[in-house]
Amino acid sequence: MIKTEKILHLKSSRGRKVRVVREHYLRELVPCFSSLCQADCANDGKLLPGDLTHYVVPDAEVVVKYLEILEFRELQGVIFTQTACQALHSKGRRFYNRLRSLVKDPRHNCVLFANEFQEYSYCPREKGESQEKWQTRCVYSAAVWYYNHLAGMMNVVMITEDDDAVAQYSSLNSGVFVITVQDYLQNFWPELQAAHELYSSISQALQEKENEDSQKEFTEHLPAEVLEAGIKSGRYIQGTLNVSKHRAQNEAFIMNEGLSNKNTGAGNHNLSEGVLVYGSKNRNRAVHGDTVVVELLPKSEWRGKATALIEGQDEKTREDSESKPMPTGNVVGILQRNWRDYVVTFPTRDKTQSQTRNSQRILVIPWDRRIPKIRISTQQADTLQDHRVVVRIDSWESSSLYPNGHSVRVLGRAGELETEVQTILIENCIHVPPFSDVQLREMPINSPERPWRVDPAQMQERRDLRGTRLVFSIDPQGCEDVDDTLSVRSLADGKLLELGVHIADVTHFITEGSLTDLEARSRATTYYLADRRYDMLPAVLSADLCSLLGGVDRYAMSVMWELDAQTLAVNKVWYGRTLIRSSYQLHYELAQALLNGEDAEVPELARLGSEQRDRKLAELIQALEMLTRVARHLRAQRDRGGALELEGVEVRAQLDEDRNITALVPRQPLEVHETVAECMIYANHWVARKIQEAFPYQALLRRHPPPRLELFSQLVDTAKARGFPIDTRTNKALADSLDRAVDQQDPLVNRLLRMMATQAMSQAVYFSTGAEPVDQFYHYGLALDCYTHFTSPIRRYADMVVHRLLTAALQVERGSSPDRPLASNREVEEMAQHINNKNRAAQRAQNMSTALFQCLYFKERDPQTDPRCVADAIIYSIRDNGVLVFVSEYGVKGPVYVKNKEGQVVSVEPDGSCEWQSGSVRRYPDHITTTSSYGTSTFRLFDHITVRISVQFTACHAATLNMGVISNKPHRSAETRQPPSQARSQLVQEVVRLAEEAQEKAAQRPKLSREEREFRQSRTPNLYSLLEEVRELALMDLETVSQICMTTA
Ligand SMILES: [Zn+2]
Repeated sequence: MIKTEKILHLKSSRGRKVRVVREHYLRELVPCFSSLCQADCANDGKLLPGDLTHYVVPDAEVVVKYLEILEFRELQGVIFTQTACQALHSKGRRFYNRLRSLVKDPRHNCVLFANEFQEYSYCPREKGESQEKWQTRCVYSAAVWYYNHLAGMMNVVMITEDDDAVAQYSSLNSGVFVITVQDYLQNFWPELQAAHELYSSISQALQEKENEDSQKEFTEHLPAEVLEAGIKSGRYIQGTLNVSKHRAQNEAFIMNEGLSNKNTGAGNHNLSEGVLVYGSKNRNRAVHGDTVVVELLPKSEWRGKATALIEGQDEKTREDSESKPMPTGNVVGILQRNWRDYVVTFPTRDKTQSQTRNSQRILVIPWDRRIPKIRISTQQADTLQDHRVVVRIDSWESSSLYPNGHSVRVLGRAGELETEVQTILIENCIHVPPFSDVQLREMPINSPERPWRVDPAQMQERRDLRGTRLVFSIDPQGCEDVDDTLSVRSLADGKLLELGVHIADVTHFITEGSLTDLEARSRATTYYLADRRYDMLPAVLSADLCSLLGGVDRYAMSVMWELDAQTLAVNKVWYGRTLIRSSYQLHYELAQALLNGEDAEVPELARLGSEQRDRKLAELIQALEMLTRVARHLRAQRDRGGALELEGVEVRAQLDEDRNITALVPRQPLEVHETVAECMIYANHWVARKIQEAFPYQALLRRHPPPRLELFSQLVDTAKARGFPIDTRTNKALADSLDRAVDQQDPLVNRLLRMMATQAMSQAVYFSTGAEPVDQFYHYGLALDCYTHFTSPIRRYADMVVHRLLTAALQVERGSSPDRPLASNREVEEMAQHINNKNRAAQRAQNMSTALFQCLYFKERDPQTDPRCVADAIIYSIRDNGVLVFVSEYGVKGPVYVKNKEGQVVSVEPDGSCEWQSGSVRRYPDHITTTSSYGTSTFRLFDHITVRISVQFTACHAATLNMGVISNKPHRSAETRQPPSQARSQLVQEVVRLAEEAQEKAAQRPKLSREEREFRQSRTPNLYSLLEEVRELALMDLETVSQICMTTA
């Protein structure tokens, strides 16, 4: 080993120059991470494959400026040098971490080479040599080393932005090609259009940045040390900047969970509602989501937040009424930027903009109103008019009113279905590319030529239930991915009863840490949008080998309880891996019909002789009856504990053979739904107990915190207006009082109250058992002391984690050690947060896509003439200048104004019809009145009124539905009208049809890009996907229930 000295010239954050001398050890052996290595390098972990056309070594400057391009998964054989890595580090920790995770991620074909430790590639800096030139020389030397080290078996390309280096090194004949980034992309990746576009967009942004003027628009941020000291002393407050959706220009709040109970030095003010940051100067370049530091303003400068409903989105024209002043502050520094990809819209031509040279600087408008306009430089301003484009923010200097950014890729024309769906995905950070070939190669094969078979070795390890248990599944009609099955049988001459829940053994097929596992982990869930879904797992698993279909052998993870046949007390529980063959794939209606003693055809028995059929049928019915009895008992047990039934499933899909929805019919509440749900809840609960016992500090559970009682005030007040007392003191009291709050005349009343109760609830969340005290494990909605998710591993990653924990627990129990080291408490908690975030994103995306379909549906109709634009609405909340209503026919909620911007009020004629007149409005707790020269009109809670629905378009944001009252009387639908739920499914179908027609018409326009097409992975042109979740809903897990309330209710 050779020791040298390395001299670094670093710039401190204050701008001082520091000279650092470091001892530097050189080695002969530094791993090359290539599978072509002939030199016995200690190559551990990820290797560059040998079957590529070339390896590419980017210069330090290229990594610093164009890391985003190197992040394309299509690029293969990328070698990052230590030199480049250090250069990136000096740009900022955020970028450095991005590179590190890139190198770690096995889905990216790149490695890190410690070139400065390699004896033969290291080059000391020469006297007078600039840092940049030296870095380029180091990288070149590393590239040459690779070429020689691999004995010329692999082409090596170095990319640099330094033209001198291209000229100088190209003439050396070292075997290494030295070219510019642009040449590289053009020659090696001509098809990768997205990378080309990104390159020109970044290089333009960089060029523009050089021409910045330096006039100050904002106060400088304080240095990190000052911020930290200030937070410690209590002078400053740290939190996340949350910009108000409706008043994005002026109102933002600093939210921090710790704020309420922390003693801040800022006069011990009550900060539980957060700190208001008013106006853009005070916001000081912080962007929604950033972690910021604020200082409170003197009390005399505090303000209140605005309270009225906002009509339209025009902030300036409203004279807002404000609440009482609250702690108000200004941003003094930013601890962490949390910038993501933003979808923006290019403005139409007349609104543009300064022009410099060939390119234009354009202010683009983010789709998310909370994000400020972004300035980007582009030559495509004309072609991109009215298009939605993904952009990233690069910087926000104190000299600039707006942040600078660059475009990443074009999504398409605003207002078109595909563009809008992509927008929703990106805005929710949902990344669901098609599964790659490498990922698919990890999958087992099951084809007609090579059918999948049970592995004899597995037969040894698993308990074989095939001959001994009657296993069956009950799912919605047409369900493809069956992840749970049931069995029940009587033992010991009827003294005992055995209940079994058998779940698809997904983790048998997916090794922890494999590419498919990583993909599933980063997705965390299957995403359901109104017209399609994006699966968490490849179809060979989710629809085939992990689907517990009838008549085929499948691996399962089972929980089996031995119960006393009389008292149903648990004698013992068995957990483990099994081999099953489901005998019946039932759907809910069929199972219920069998239970009701109705004459129903079971397809599996259709071909049997009558005697055999009768015997088998009797056996099946007996099993279903036993199951029902057990489930009733379990349900009663939880009811005594206070389990809640909230507003949830109320529609189901009827499907034809092609899985098209033929009808959506209001759900007949079938007991068998609850029966299946109860068994799943039971299994989840017992698995939670098992893994919690085995791993008290690192198991993944799911808790549902009790709601804050003050959040129930709207529910309580609203119910009171109708004469129903609601008791929220315990979950039991709440459940009972909701059960009693039934208006015989109007079933919508109870539904609305349950919806409000759902909204007041906190969300159920995953957590690690080491991160919470045991008394916080409680699941309020299900009234269980501990709970987890075990029963849907095909579409929830949490269940896969739990399957692995259960497997490890069983191994520990047997005295062997787990296959892999267990994740620590911290890791499990991080995983839990990740999954929680993804679930929230999935929920938001689903709601947004439903809203999108509603808007696209009404876009095609003339509200003045089309009868479908007129609907019945029920009032559920009273506001200052209007009411909030719910239109059950379309599942739409929103405001109806009784006073407009011009100050006119709604006046009701004797026949109920409404007109705008000048007048005044007065709000009461349970009603609102308008008074004009024609008299006084009243709108009460729970009144049914008639509204006209129209769409309000804004080019840059999501369209919204407007509702205007046209009569204070209920809208009586004509006899011929279809049931509401059916209208909803037609809504989706029709929008899809229109979008497809529009696409055909636009054949002269360029076809969909590959990217756009790929995004249409596993598209289902109907609501099937959404409604398939019906079973999930039946579990009454609140998160999903509230989700459906938003979408189908
Ligand atoms: Zn090697």
